[in-house]
Amino acid sequence: MRELAVLHAEVRACTKCSLHATRTQAVPGVGPCPADVMIVGEAPGFNEDRQGEPFVGPAGKLLDTLLGRIGLSRADVYITNVLKCRPPQNRDPMPNEAEACEPYLQRQLQLIKPKVVLILGRHALERLLPGQGSISRVHGSLVLRGDIAYVPLYHPAAALHNGSLVADLERDFDSVRRYLDRLLAPPPPPEPEPERQEAEQLRLL
Ligand code: URA
Ligand code: SF4
Repeated sequence: MRELAVLHAEVRACTKCSLHATRTQAVPGVGPCPADVMIVGEAPGFNEDRQGEPFVGPAGKLLDTLLGRIGLSRADVYITNVLKCRPPQNRDPMPNEAEACEPYLQRQLQLIKPKVVLILGRHALERLLPGQGSISRVHGSLVLRGDIAYVPLYHPAAALHNGSLVADLERDFDSVRRYLDRLLAPPPPPEPEPERQEAEQLRLL
């Protein structure tokens, strides 16, 4: 899609925050457009900064495994991050950086038109669902906002540091599968014929 290619090019040339000075390259995002499922992480890390693609390091391997668990592959989903450039030493995003980068994320949502957005970690949660509460409380739940259903999840990198979160992530991805089955199901068959409705009503009297 041409508009997405234009947006990606804008991101690669962006100097709106100081992270442009320390990046190897910006990491706009990857995947089909439009896409039913969009995934939003925190920021590029070492490997992503080198390769120009999101989630290609160890956290990405875990993400691939979790997607595979519910019958999805990278080809099915559009993946991006709150920040498109790597913070030095992988430090947390700063509020002014997330704010400067936000318009790109909003334009991605408009172009990708996802039905479901998987939110990876607390920084993406803060950006996409401000005031929702902590990730440890809301992970695995379905949050409907406008036309989009959001599912906050632990960040795969957090699970690499704290192995006890892997089981939570697996359980939450199983929930994601059930949400997708419900939300992406074909529309229900048309209403029954009026005569039949009357007959049903009579039967209920
Ligand atoms: N962690 C993220 O949040 N995003 C990436 O792209 C890679 C690791
Ligand atoms: Fe631009 Fe975002 Fe990179 Fe900052 S992080 S330079 S706002 S693309």
